[in-house]
Amino acid sequence: MENIGYYNGAFAPIEELMIPACDRGVYFGDGVYEALRVERHRFFALREHLSRFRASLAFLRIPFEMTDEALTAILQEAADRVESDSQQLYFQVTRGSAIRTHAFPEGAEPNLLVFSRGVPLADLSEHRRVIVLPDTRWEHCNVKSLNLIPSVLAAEAAKERGCCEAVFHRNGVVTECSSSNLLMLKDGVLRTAPADEKILPGVTRGHFLMLARKLGVPVEEIAFTLEEACGADELMITSTSAHGLPVGELEGRAVCGRDDALLRKLQKAYRDYFYASVEN
Ligand code: PMP
Repeated sequence: MENIGYYNGAFAPIEELMIPACDRGVYFGDGVYEALRVERHRFFALREHLSRFRASLAFLRIPFEMTDEALTAILQEAADRVESDSQQLYFQVTRGSAIRTHAFPEGAEPNLLVFSRGVPLADLSEHRRVIVLPDTRWEHCNVKSLNLIPSVLAAEAAKERGCCEAVFHRNGVVTECSSSNLLMLKDGVLRTAPADEKILPGVTRGHFLMLARKLGVPVEEIAFTLEEACGADELMITSTSAHGLPVGELEGRAVCGRDDALLRKLQKAYRDYFYASVEN
């Protein structure tokens, strides 16, 4: 199959999947999600994604009782039903289905939705263009909740201006992007915002920092300003499908391209680690 969807026990192609209108995900976005890579039907960094997923569930106080083993079996079945060797798998859990009322409904059981489809990894060769926008999201960006309207609007604004991402800032200090983290190289140091409540602790970000340390590249988890970003040697976008996408233009201004050697070294270290992990 080209893609698969799953909802509370039933599999169907994504386009045919039906969910009830009273799933609280529909009208409140009352749920959490994860997105991960599946290469040759094997998960990359599943443990890290599950751990972030459990932290998001705990923040929203959603009592999802399915064990990681049982959940993994469903995710594996979904991935196995898709032919592609390079998939992006998405899953979400909402608080449950009930007549609309803001407070938690009595007795609602969490709903599990999964879908997977072939999505190629981003090409990392070319430097890309990004726009800059104020970060108008909430104060808990470390939680992967379904409420993504500021990110949706930012991604659309980037697209309309021929850019691949929108870089968010709060009072001139860079947080992250609409659906990725932003890492900076300056004078041989890898720097990025700390993993606090202002950013999503990206799984890819974590691996980049780990690999840089292993390679002897100093790492600083200290936020940088937009001005510093403009003076960066390189800027890299990281996410599950963007393994260190270089930035070459920020808000119409040419930037970066000054430490290609280290940029390519980190990209390669990540790709090697990624492929080695899915082989083991
Ligand atoms: N920040 C945001 C806001 C995101 O939506 C994502 C992607 N889910 C990331 C960062 C990157 O996270 P990861 O590396 O785990 O895909």
